[in-house]
Amino acid sequence: MSRFFSQKYKDLTPYTPGEQPKDFKYIKLNTNESPFPPSKKAVKVGKKVLNQLNLYSDPTCSDIRKAIAEKIGVSKDEIIFGNGSDELLYLSFLAFCDEKRGVAFADITYGFYKVYAKLNNLNAKVIPLKDDFSINIADYFNLNKTIFIANPNAPTGICLSLEQIEKIVSENINSVVIIDEAYVDFGGKSAIPLTKKYDNLLVIQTFSKSRSLAGARLGLAVGNKELINDLNTIRYSINPYNVNKTTLKLGEFAYLDDEYTKSNCNTIIENREFTVEQLKKLGFSMTESKANFIFVKHESLSGKKIYQKLKEKLILVRHFDLPRINEYVRITIGTKKQMQALISALNEIITEEK
Ligand SMILES: *Cc1c(COP(=O)(O)O)cnc(C)c1O
Repeated sequence: MSRFFSQKYKDLTPYTPGEQPKDFKYIKLNTNESPFPPSKKAVKVGKKVLNQLNLYSDPTCSDIRKAIAEKIGVSKDEIIFGNGSDELLYLSFLAFCDEKRGVAFADITYGFYKVYAKLNNLNAKVIPLKDDFSINIADYFNLNKTIFIANPNAPTGICLSLEQIEKIVSENINSVVIIDEAYVDFGGKSAIPLTKKYDNLLVIQTFSKSRSLAGARLGLAVGNKELINDLNTIRYSINPYNVNKTTLKLGEFAYLDDEYTKSNCNTIIENREFTVEQLKKLGFSMTESKANFIFVKHESLSGKKIYQKLKEKLILVRHFDLPRINEYVRITIGTKKQMQALISALNEIITEEK
């Protein structure tokens, strides 16, 4: 810390991203990226924009906004884009939380909520998940706080039903409820249709997982137009050109390429169920995941050991050294071949450790 660093942030612990090694020697199952390249149609259009990068990107994001609003059946004023959904989450913390209102989220969920709360000096009500890592929705009724819920949750993959989401939203009509649907395409149901009925619901999605654009940085949020307007007020106060020109085009055409996204998601779901069955035979247990990752623990090996031994075998997974979950590892679902390599490696590790 320099002597110039703001006193406001002296106790801030930043988010720790998963390892992003430069060499390609690892099978990378640690940050929930897609193993498949972006849509070819999207890349083709995205490339054409490269020689227009002397000009700023469109701050209104009009082309992509029109295309996607039409596709999902909302008006153009009900949607906003961000530099990754992380940025939209951050804008939501700025727009809808203050010291008086505070914020609420689960004890085991996306790590950024805690960081953003601290960064903004907010009072966070941290609500413990049940022993089986599921959410008790009654814990979220009438909180009088801005609520953040990842659905499916990370890193557990557990998914609430739309009825449960609606119940939480309707029991908090005077607070904004933000549903982070980063993994919804792998088996969940989107709450976007509920935004018509509730003016306190904001749904955030990302292009990083099911749409294979993690490196392009794009997210979207859908909600009542006044919520979106508030987010734009903050966005225009920080960086109106928050999404670059190439990404706007990539995102537009990737979103329209449904067939490709659906087929990739189906493959991931199949590979997930295959991996779950195989790992159970090896003595693993896991939460019921509706995401592109599984959250597993072994009957005799610790989470840390599994992480380390897999890394020696050039397979990267994610281990969180945190209370309640340090016996677990989170494994991204990749191609069938990658999953077979993972299963063989785990088989070897278990045999070696016996
Ligand atoms: C991956 C992830 C995000 C971040 O997505 P970006 O769009 O890449 O910023 C947000 N929320 C959850 C729960 C995630 O797992």
